[in-house]
Amino acid sequence: HADIAMYSARASGKEPYFFYQLHMSEAILEKITIEQHMRYALEKKEFILNYQPRVDSQTGQLRGLEALVRWDHPERGLLAPQYFIPIAETSGLIVQLGEYVIELVCQQLAIWKKHALPLCPVSINVSPRQLHRNDLMARILRHASENGIDPALLEIEVTESCIIEDSVTVKQQLEAFSALGMKLLLDDFGTGYSSLTQLQHYAMDLLKVDRAFTANLENGDKSAALVSAIITMAHALGMKVVAEGVETLAQLHLLQALACDEVQGYLISKPVSAEAIAELMCRPTLFSEMMFVEKNLNL
Ligand code: C2E
Ligand code: MG
Ligand code: MG
Ligand code: MG
Repeated sequence: HADIAMYSARASGKEPYFFYQLHMSEAILEKITIEQHMRYALEKKEFILNYQPRVDSQTGQLRGLEALVRWDHPERGLLAPQYFIPIAETSGLIVQLGEYVIELVCQQLAIWKKHALPLCPVSINVSPRQLHRNDLMARILRHASENGIDPALLEIEVTESCIIEDSVTVKQQLEAFSALGMKLLLDDFGTGYSSLTQLQHYAMDLLKVDRAFTANLENGDKSAALVSAIITMAHALGMKVVAEGVETLAQLHLLQALACDEVQGYLISKPVSAEAIAELMCRPTLFSEMMFVEKNLNL
């Protein structure tokens, strides 16, 4: 933005430096404003969670839920994470917000448990900044025990950026999670820069293939070949695979044929409220009739 402002300022013969400053301070001001509002919103408990199911790709059985944070803003309505997570990450507020998310997940699991619902694991998205502190484990364990929840019901989603830095703190914490029976999920796989070499040093249980790959599945053989190779590699390393962002029946059927273990996406369910999840938990499958694979696949 600043560059464009400079360019147009020069082109129009005006003082470029002034334009540059003005633009920068606007951006910074907007950031600081959101940051201040976030602090207040954390106190007022304006953040809520939606949950998106992950299902077995052959049977549609519920395998897990992903907790996704939203800001229930009093004036602006429900705000998506893209609006505030990046700011929370640079300002460090993500540590507080992240802890609140952990607390909400544990409270919710306790509520579902109280209603005698068939519980399934809930995955929590964790930022590098949270993992780089050595107290994440203690915080998680405290909230789990305060709510009478088995920590093995919690799963941790990290992105490739968390594992490429090769930090001892990160590695030790991830190993400690595993030891407690908490599954580790590698989120948005294929968009970062992690290599197969790095993958073997981390005990990831599940690899989440980024939705960009899923979206491309129907556009020719190469994407399918790529996803197929990722699945084979993951299986060889002892990991299961979940495809993110499954929106069409054709994508689902292809992923079933490629032996992708699990699927997640709008086709099965959008992220929904905890109340809506309570109903989904009681279903034997989240697939509708048409989602079951046809026997005569043309591949
Ligand atoms: P993510 O962890 O990769 O989550 C998947 C995102 O894709 C979610 O967006 C979800 O609503 C969306 N999605 C799911 N299925 C489909 C589909 O079929 N089609 C399309 N187009 N999108 C689909 P959401 O909820 O807006 O979250 C965006 C990102 O914000 C997440 O990406 C995650 O990186 C971050 N995030 C969300 N909650 C938290 C949190 O509690 N802590 C942290 N640190 N990050 C979070
Ligand atoms: Mg995620
Ligand atoms: Mg993801
Ligand atoms: Mg993503």
